[in-house]
Amino acid sequence: MKLSERKINYHYTSECDMNCKFCFRFYNKSNLKQILTTFHELCKKVKSINLVGGEVFLDIDLLLSLIHIARDHNVKLSLVTNGYILSKSLDDERVLRVLKHLSVIGISIDSFNPEYNRMVGRTVNHDVLSIEELKQIINVARKNDCLIKINTVVTKYNASENLMKTISTFNIDQWKQFKVVLYDQEQEEFHASDVAFNSFTKLNQTSYVTTERENELKHTYLNVIPNGDFIMNTGDQTPMSNIYKEVSLIEQELSTSKYDDEGYKSRYKKKSMDDVYIKA
Ligand code: SF4
Repeated sequence: MKLSERKINYHYTSECDMNCKFCFRFYNKSNLKQILTTFHELCKKVKSINLVGGEVFLDIDLLLSLIHIARDHNVKLSLVTNGYILSKSLDDERVLRVLKHLSVIGISIDSFNPEYNRMVGRTVNHDVLSIEELKQIINVARKNDCLIKINTVVTKYNASENLMKTISTFNIDQWKQFKVVLYDQEQEEFHASDVAFNSFTKLNQTSYVTTERENELKHTYLNVIPNGDFIMNTGDQTPMSNIYKEVSLIEQELSTSKYDDEGYKSRYKKKSMDDVYIKA
């Protein structure tokens, strides 16, 4: 594998304004200096980074600092957000500066049913992101030349929902549908069977959909946390390597770890916009 050609998910914060019951985020102690120094190191070694949390818009100034570093290194940047803070800050000129420098914005939308969102904790003080607010985010992101991706986690409880009717009215580029990945027994109630997941994907099929099942999700992402460790998203936080090591050693350690580079490549062979567009 060639590290510089891989897209890295930088999990720099575990802080979030929502509290989803099936959340997957890395809880780690870090400080601003470590977050920025590790990001700087990442930018020296890879060309494409996806910023993930937690919720990245909780600290817009930090987001801007990361964007400046990425720009200085000519690194392509995308991020994933739950959209709540973003929807309330679309007139904040710092937010517009963030959007201006992103290639892709991923928005997590699992349901348009407020009851479902409340049940799973996808709320902020019982408030949910409305369809109207989502539309506004999409419009503003479009105006700033961002490609737009919606990420949907499918559980037992939203597997029969038709989101297509609404999503097809938006101007988006990709819709990723994930089968929920569970990390502990308390989350078991959300388990979606293959039959349920398949019926969701059938009900919500469009030309810009990509789907990911558990086995495709667990070992095919490269995740880095603020201390520089490469961590698998399987719940096991044993580091596979560390970004501060020599590139050749990182590549060697990753290739002998549980990370599945063939799986990574086949995910990207699916319809993906990630390599289509680089903002100047
Ligand atoms: S919005 Fe995302 S990061 Fe926040 S709690 Fe929900 S799944 Fe976790």
